[in-house]
Amino acid sequence: MDVLLLGGGITGLALAHELAPAHDVTVLEAAPGPRGGGYMIDFFGPGFVAAERMGLLEELRSRGHVFEGVRYAAPDGTETGRIDVGPLVAAAGGRYFSILRPEVELGLLAALPASVQLRYGARVEAVRDAGLEGAAGSRRAAVELADGSTLDADLVVACDGVRSAVRELVAPGHGAIVPMGYRVASYLCEDPQLAAELGERMLMTDTVGRVGWAYAADAQRVGVMLAERVDPARTARPVPDRGRLQRAFAGLHPQVDRALAHAPESFYDDLVAQAVAPRWSRGRVVLAGDAAHAPSLLAGQGTSLAIAGAEALARSLRATGPHVEAGLAEYERRWRPTAERVQRAGRRSASFFTPSSRAQLRLQQIARRALSLPGASRLAARSIAAA
Ligand SMILES: Cc1cc2nc3c(=O)[nH]c(=O)nc-3n(C[C@H](O)[C@H](O)[C@H](O)COP(=O)(O)OP(=O)(O)OC[C@H]3O[C@@H](n4cnc5c(N)ncnc54)[C@H](O)[C@@H]3O)c2cc1C
Repeated sequence: MDVLLLGGGITGLALAHELAPAHDVTVLEAAPGPRGGGYMIDFFGPGFVAAERMGLLEELRSRGHVFEGVRYAAPDGTETGRIDVGPLVAAAGGRYFSILRPEVELGLLAALPASVQLRYGARVEAVRDAGLEGAAGSRRAAVELADGSTLDADLVVACDGVRSAVRELVAPGHGAIVPMGYRVASYLCEDPQLAAELGERMLMTDTVGRVGWAYAADAQRVGVMLAERVDPARTARPVPDRGRLQRAFAGLHPQVDRALAHAPESFYDDLVAQAVAPRWSRGRVVLAGDAAHAPSLLAGQGTSLAIAGAEALARSLRATGPHVEAGLAEYERRWRPTAERVQRAGRRSASFFTPSSRAQLRLQQIARRALSLPGASRLAARSIAAA
């Protein structure tokens, strides 16, 4: 069958990889080319297992890295604690590494079958499930592009991220994101000297209301992530503004200040949010990845879930052959429990992602110290790896 994938991010590319051997796959991506922005993710859990089955693991692992751990520090630069990643890697049986989001995208692109048609600069404006509108013949779905053209296919998969414009069509009343009270910005910048100083440990600031992370992405580049508490009722996408970012996050730590001086004009900047939909498909239109079940970065598994969900969808479609709608129902039946479990884990971490008061910061410092007691770190690592 012919399949249109709306969005060439992690989900779209992973799904194209899985569907291409058996189907005519076209990926429609609004951006003019592969997106460079993004943050360092922990890659383990369902995505790791799926990537292994998909034959993608070594490509991704070669682009990843295992840090020694995290170093916490106060605004005056003094170290306030450490957490080692060793117990987590051991609890995951070595099936864990860190990787930049853009490297996942580039890894998937490197492994993309030649038969996939990948169209950059192709913004989809509207999606229709033609079958539901009573069109004659077999069920088809159609998309309208910003250039005025229309394409139709046996199946349209919306892989257009947490702010999916298709979710409202599939699950009316659920098009909006579910914000979690945080805003996060991230970018990569060139600073070999700072990268060398940061070394093998990520820096996380021990601060109230706003938190900064800085890490060596490689020998040349530093990755930065900046999180702040915002009104949880707010849903509009923030407009990235370098000046505001530099003012709002100044003074968290001397090394974060140095990285802030390199903030680019354009960077990832969005509310931390989940997507919730009581149904994932309608006729020949189906939601996948963040569009269906974004867990938010609080769950730490958005990209892993995106890859594993894409594989689960492809597997269900393979199993049901020509009975496409049965395949979509099977995908949801099998995959929803895992996606919802990870979303629940994300909601549980929401209250302590960024300390809201000095008392909460103090509690986190005490919990960290307890974690460094013999045995405790192994126990905690086992529960994270099992989440
Ligand atoms: C550039 C970028 C940087 C990111 N950085 C972070 C980060 O720092 N922290 C974080 O928590 N999450 C970040 N994310 C989100 C994270 O990648 C996802 O949560 C996760 O990987 C799931 O991937 P996904 O493919 O489902 O969604 P996404 O990675 O969001 O991909 C969706 C894709 O769909 C495309 N798209 C959207 N609308 C249309 C349309 N109408 N027509 C055609 N294409 C469309 C987008 O351009 C994008 O490439 C980032 C996403 C992007 C695109």
